[in-house]
Amino acid sequence: MWAASACCSRQAGEGGGSATAARTPVKTFQAYLPPAHRTYSCIHCRAHLASHDELISKSFQGSQGRAYLFNSVVNVGCGPAEERVLLTGLHAVADIYCECCKTMLGWKYEHAFESSQKYKEGKFIIELAHMVKENGWD
Ligand SMILES: [Zn+2]
Repeated sequence: MWAASACCSRQAGEGGGSATAARTPVKTFQAYLPPAHRTYSCIHCRAHLASHDELISKSFQGSQGRAYLFNSVVNVGCGPAEERVLLTGLHAVADIYCECCKTMLGWKYEHAFESSQKYKEGKFIIELAHMVKENGWD
């Protein structure tokens, strides 16, 4: 099962009413962040990944170097969570990948077992190697 990051509890077909079944497209191919914002994009396919406003910390370490911690991301899919021992202790983490080009980007902290690490729960790590700053800002 893929865990959807967005809450989508609205199920079609509930309640039996069929007269006004609006055929709205259910598949969104790509989310776009507001153009006025400084954004990080997937370096492989240029899909938007995160807004600079959502950046929490730049001082994380990924398998390929520096990684950033974000409060929220877009266009990112999530694999199953599993327990891993990281530099900062035991965590339940899930791999995250670009929904557009399927490249693994980093991971999501599903659960932290040490109280000092709880602030990372529900947050996302994206490795710098997979991101590009949009619009050339510093
Ligand atoms: Zn991509």
